[in-house]
Amino acid sequence: MNYVVLDLEWNQGDASKEAQNPEMPFEVIEIGAVKLDADMKNCGEYSRRIKPTCYNTMHFITAKLLHIHRADLENERCFPEVFEDFRKWCGDDFLFCTWGPQDLTELQRNMHYHGVKPFSDGPLPFLDVQKLFSLAFQSGKDRSSLESAVDMMAITKDIPFHRARDDAYYTGEILALIPEKFLSNVSYDCFSIPKDKKHEVHIEFNDYVKFISRGFSDKNKALEDPEVISTVCCICGKPLRRKAVSWFSPNGKNYYSVSICPEHGNMKAKVRLKKTDNGLTYVVKTEKFISEKDVKDLRERADKAARNVKRAEQYQNRGK
Ligand SMILES: [Zn+2]
Repeated sequence: MNYVVLDLEWNQGDASKEAQNPEMPFEVIEIGAVKLDADMKNCGEYSRRIKPTCYNTMHFITAKLLHIHRADLENERCFPEVFEDFRKWCGDDFLFCTWGPQDLTELQRNMHYHGVKPFSDGPLPFLDVQKLFSLAFQSGKDRSSLESAVDMMAITKDIPFHRARDDAYYTGEILALIPEKFLSNVSYDCFSIPKDKKHEVHIEFNDYVKFISRGFSDKNKALEDPEVISTVCCICGKPLRRKAVSWFSPNGKNYYSVSICPEHGNMKAKVRLKKTDNGLTYVVKTEKFISEKDVKDLRERADKAARNVKRAEQYQNRGK
C-alpha cells in the first residue's frame, strides 16, 4: 500500500463581489501530492492547477497568500478532468494523508458539486499528519502549523510554502519521521457517513474505541439510539450499566459519561453530535479508560453543567 500525501489550494467566494455557493464554499484551484511507498520512500509527485468554474474573482486571501491570479488559471483544465487524472495517478491501493482534517472534506465537496464519482459511500479513512505529529512529538492535543512542525523537525526549507505540491512534500517529510506505532491512529473523514446500521464504523485502537453512526433525522433520535448511549468494556466486552458519572452535556453538542467495569475500571464515553451537508445528525463516539482523578474532574464538570441548567430554568420561570 502507498501513502498519497495530499494538499489542496482553494479559492473562496469573495462575498463583496459574487455570491457564495453554500454547496461549495471553497473551490479547489490546485491539487498537489506526493506518493510514499510502504517504506516511506518518495516514489512520485503530482501537481496540477485547475481552472475555476464557480468563483470568477480571486478572494484577496487567495491572491495574497498563494500569489495565484485568475488569469494564471485561464489555460488550465477544469476540475472533473484534472481530478480523473489525479485519481489514476493515485492508483488502487493507497491511504490519503493530509495536514489537518479539512482537505479531504473540501475535495469531496468539490467532487460532489461536479458530479464526480465518490471515493466511497461511507467515511473515508486517512492519516491526519498534523494529529500524528502531535501524538508523536507534542502533547497530543496541540495542532501546529506545517511550517512550525518543519522547523521543529529541522527539515531543510529549500522550497517555499503555500504551493500545494510543496506543502504536500513537507507533510510527506514529516510523515516519514513519525514512528510506525502511531500510524495505526487512522482518522475518518465523514463527508459521507455510514448509509445504514450495517455500515456503521466500529474501530479499536490501542487504548480507545471509536464508533461512527448512521444519520438520524434529529439530535433526539440520535440520542435515543441504544448503540449511541450504551457502553461496552473495551477489554472484556461486557455491557456496562453502572455509571460513575451519568450522561451530561456542558454545551448541548458533546455528551459525556463514565461507566464502571468491575474488573477493568472506569470507561469514559464521549459523544459528539455532528451534521452532514444535507442536514442529518450523526454521532462520533469515543471510549477509553480513565483514572480516578479524571473521574473526579468529570463529576465536577457534570455538577457544574447541572447547576447551569437549573439556573437557566429559574431565570425562565422568573416572569411566570
Ligand atoms: Zn471489562
